[in-house]
This record gives sequence, structure tokens and C-alpha cells, in this order.
Amino acid sequence: MDISRVIKPWKLKPQRNLVFVNATIVDPAEGKLIRNATVRISEGKIIQLFTDGSSTTTDDLPEENVIDLSGKYLCPALIDCHVHVAVVPDEADLRAYKDMSERSMLDRGFTSIRDCGGACLGIKEAVQDGVIPGPRLFIAGHALSQTGGHGDLRGSHDTQLCCAGSISGISRIVDGPAECYRYAREELRQGADFIKIMGGGGVATPTDRIEHVQFSDWEIRAIVTVARNTGTYVTSHSYMPAAIQQAIKLGVRGIEHRNLIDLETAAVMAEMDVFLTPTLITHVTSKEMNFLSADGAAKNEEVLEKGLETMKMAVDEGVTVCFGTDLLGPMHFAQSKEFSVRSAVLTPLQILRSATVNAARLVMQEHRLGQIHEGFVADLLILKENPLEDITILDRVEEHILAVIKDGRVATSWWDKVKVGLWDSDL
Ligand SMILES: [Zn+2]
Repeated sequence: MDISRVIKPWKLKPQRNLVFVNATIVDPAEGKLIRNATVRISEGKIIQLFTDGSSTTTDDLPEENVIDLSGKYLCPALIDCHVHVAVVPDEADLRAYKDMSERSMLDRGFTSIRDCGGACLGIKEAVQDGVIPGPRLFIAGHALSQTGGHGDLRGSHDTQLCCAGSISGISRIVDGPAECYRYAREELRQGADFIKIMGGGGVATPTDRIEHVQFSDWEIRAIVTVARNTGTYVTSHSYMPAAIQQAIKLGVRGIEHRNLIDLETAAVMAEMDVFLTPTLITHVTSKEMNFLSADGAAKNEEVLEKGLETMKMAVDEGVTVCFGTDLLGPMHFAQSKEFSVRSAVLTPLQILRSATVNAARLVMQEHRLGQIHEGFVADLLILKENPLEDITILDRVEEHILAVIKDGRVATSWWDKVKVGLWDSDL
């Protein structure tokens, strides 16, 4: 008897081995295609990869487990580096969870996501164990915010004081180095993979302005120390040069949004190898859905206009740019449109890299995610078209994505040659 199955009866049954033959592999690291490849996946990993036309024996497998990918493309699956799976606007209670669209993220080809505030360890583990079908999570736990910062959801007329470490939506309010040390450690104790800080003002908060610099040097230094001591990193929500420069000078490794960055700041980011995760689609969708207050809408308009322009500038300066969306709850449907939005200024290769190799480096998984190599996790997309020619095919999911494979299991398939095997215990 498998004792682990007694402890966790929901554990997924062993998966079938699959072999893809005649595949054209998309290599985002080198920016090229590798034709006539054979790829064998077993126990969640890519265990063999032949790129010289030679092949593996497939006698050990039933016919349906050997898939001929002639004319198709095998691409590393996608990583979205800025989501909030636990945020649903206008919903104050957890009932909204039941309609959450993590599953659809997987359908859209995202097999990994970095949650920048709100998702807890329980959700991450439930996905890991296969209880909830969804992309693997890298979580920040609660984002850390100063009083009156982007994470403080109290309005100006709210005179109620909050005490140290209070949770406010997806954030915790912390002030002073002592609280920063303590609650950064607390987030890591509760399973955070990295620390997110609200380092500057935001679009959707009641009492701050986008140009505000938030936290003092001492506070950020404390948080960076805690993260570094445990082998992880800090990323900062910041739109403006002043907040970005403060953060990176103190050792913050990632910048979220940054729409209003200037050339000088982009150059420093490139020099210090700081990762940038723009999130443009959230501004497009917020505008389309008319979801913000009048004041919020004006802020939103400004950051959207500048966002594309400055993203190109950052890429040209050599900053490592990652794919992010920042869509709240019901807006998830627009996730893949970030590809089209970016395609106005970036090349398909630059955009594909942002969602694969660059993103894998940001989440510190470059040794196992984001590429198709032996020993890497079998997170794959089977595509009808070449994304290096037209990246917007990733927007049109049902037309162009034939199947999504996560951890070696077929999670989604729109192709009768590939059977979904995520839950099928008989396979
Ligand atoms: Zn966010």
C-alpha cells in the first residue's frame, strides 16, 4: 500500500509517459527553432531530448502516448510574474473564490504564476497537491505597506488606528525598521517565496499619490536584510523614478509596474540587474471596464500612456523585463492580451522571453522552468503557429494553443490526439 496516499488520499496517481516526435521546439533563450526533435517526458520532467533527428524507442508505450507533432510547435509554457489570485473587486467575502479563474490561467498556457500579494500557502499547497487545478504559485503572502501607503485601504475619514502588522486587504501595515524585520520574517515563516513591498504610491488607493515615495531607507534596508538572509529577494510596487531609485539602491531586486520610469533610472536598473515587471493590460482593462473612481481613472490614463513607451526604453537599455498582468479577479480573462499590448513596441522574441526565460530567472527557477531541456520540468505548450513570428497567437488561445502540459500532465487539450490527463487516474 502507498502510505502517502493514505495521508493524502487526493494525491494524483502516477502519470503516463509521453513522447513527442517530429517536434519543432521553440527556444526562447537562443531565439531559434529546433526542428525534428524528439522529447520524452516522464514523472513530470523532460527526461530525453534528441535534437539531431535521432529518436528514442517507443516500444514501451501505447500508441496514443506517442504524439506526432509534425507541423506543430513545442514551446515552454508561460509564466505570469504579477497576478493576485485572491483579489476580487467589489467582493468582500470568500464566496467570490468559487468563481476564481485560476483554471483558465492554466488553459491560457500559464503553468506558473507569481502572486504579488494575497495568495496564502494553503492555496499554493492545494495547487501543488492537485486539489485545485491551476498554475504553480510563487507567493508573496501579504505585501508590506507603510501607514497611508498603497496597501492601506482606509480612507481619509477613517480615524481608526491600525496596529502593527494589521492586515489590510492583500497587505500588512508596518512602520519602522522593527516592524519591518518582524513582519517580513512572519511572511517568510508563513510560506512567502519572496517579499513584496509597496515602495511608492499607486493607482487604486484612497489616500496616496502615485509620486509618493513610501518607506524610509531604514525600513527597506530591514526588509531586504530579512529576505537576503533566507536566500530570497524583495520586489517593490513603484511607478516613479524616485521610488525605484531608492529601492534598488537598497538592494531591492524587482520593480513592479514602473510606468513612469526615466532613462537614467532604467540605465541603473540594467547595470544592477534589477528585474522589471510591467503590467499594462490591467490599465487597459480597468479603462475598458470603467472600474475606477474619477480620480483613479485619471491616474490610470497617465500610467497607461507612458507605460508602453517606457517599457521599450527599458528593454533597449538592457533591463530584464518580465511578463506581468496584475488583473484583479473577474478581469483575468484579459490576461493573454498583454502579449498584444506589448507587441506594439517589442519583438515577439523579447515578449516570449519575458514570459519564459526572464520570468524563470525572476522566480529563481531558471534551472528548471522556462525552457525545453533535459532535466527541466515538463511544462509545455503545443502550438499551431510559431510564436516567434507572431506572438499575438498566444492571445487567441482556442485557435492556436492545442494543448497545455504542466508537470508532465496534459492539463488542457483542444486537440483529439492529446488526451487530458490531469485528473485521469487510469492513465
Ligand atoms: Zn499588483
